[in-house]
Amino acid sequence: MTTKSALSKKKGARNIRHIVQAAFFVLVAVTATAGALAEKGIAIPFIPEASLHAICPFGGVVSFWQLLNFGTLVKKVHESAVVLAVLGLFLALLFGPVICGWVCPFGTFQEWIGKLGTKLFGKKYNNFVPSKLDKVLRYLRYLVLAWVSYMTIISGKLIFQDYDPYFALFNFWSSEVAVTGFVALGLVIVLSLFVERPFCKYACPYGAFQGIFNLFRVFGIRRNAPTCISCNKCNKACPMNIEVSTSKVVRDHQCISCLECTSDAACPVPATVDMLALPGRVKDSFTKPAPKGKRGDIQTTADKE
Ligand code: SF4
Ligand code: SF4
Repeated sequence: MTTKSALSKKKGARNIRHIVQAAFFVLVAVTATAGALAEKGIAIPFIPEASLHAICPFGGVVSFWQLLNFGTLVKKVHESAVVLAVLGLFLALLFGPVICGWVCPFGTFQEWIGKLGTKLFGKKYNNFVPSKLDKVLRYLRYLVLAWVSYMTIISGKLIFQDYDPYFALFNFWSSEVAVTGFVALGLVIVLSLFVERPFCKYACPYGAFQGIFNLFRVFGIRRNAPTCISCNKCNKACPMNIEVSTSKVVRDHQCISCLECTSDAACPVPATVDMLALPGRVKDSFTKPAPKGKRGDIQTTADKE
């Protein structure tokens, strides 16, 4: 494959992600609306009727314990949520949290608000939180995951629904949404103007669960140090503020497998950041850093145009 065709392939992959995200957003919005109308006896032809609980894999995840021990599901959770949870688990084992980066409509919603934040704050956007504080805050979502899992196990109910901004967004007309859910949604909307994907970074229990797979996923993000020119553009492209430019392999628990860092719009040197099978040990030839500031005979995308 020529360099040019490899580049356009990457550009295409980036556009495909945005199309896939928009498609899932519409699908979830339409399905949740049809499900709510069906409960009131109004059926929309050709549109599947399903509640958000039937298509949210996190309901399946918090049901695993009850299912294994008692053979039953947590109240309101559907079998389809368990199927989606298992599918999400296999995908995460292979590619990391692709569900977060490509499918989750609430991640997409935050990204869309983030575009407005970028317009308002330019380069300052997504850089407001001091990095030391940010690093600590990012572990909060594991506390949320532990609390939600424990409370769901002892109560047999979907405890997180009352605090879930995702549920509030797609059911805002319903009496099922608690005030706390609306408060959480309002907070996420405001914070998304300053920070990209704040809910994913700091509070999402499903993102926390999926993030664990970044530690041992089969395919992951690798940087080819010998061709890297240390321009840091990949860091700026990463919605999760991960320092790709200093990583041999991205094992950060916050990676959402969005592939933005692999795009030629981010990295100017072709084939420098890629999603590849991750061996247990990365070969030295792939990890020796390029001399800082010396580009040698490395050709950037701009050189080729
Ligand atoms: S490291 Fe790359 S794939 Fe992972 S979140 Fe950042 S931009 Fe996306
Ligand atoms: S964008 Fe590419 S060349 Fe620049 S620092 Fe990142 S990996 Fe290196």
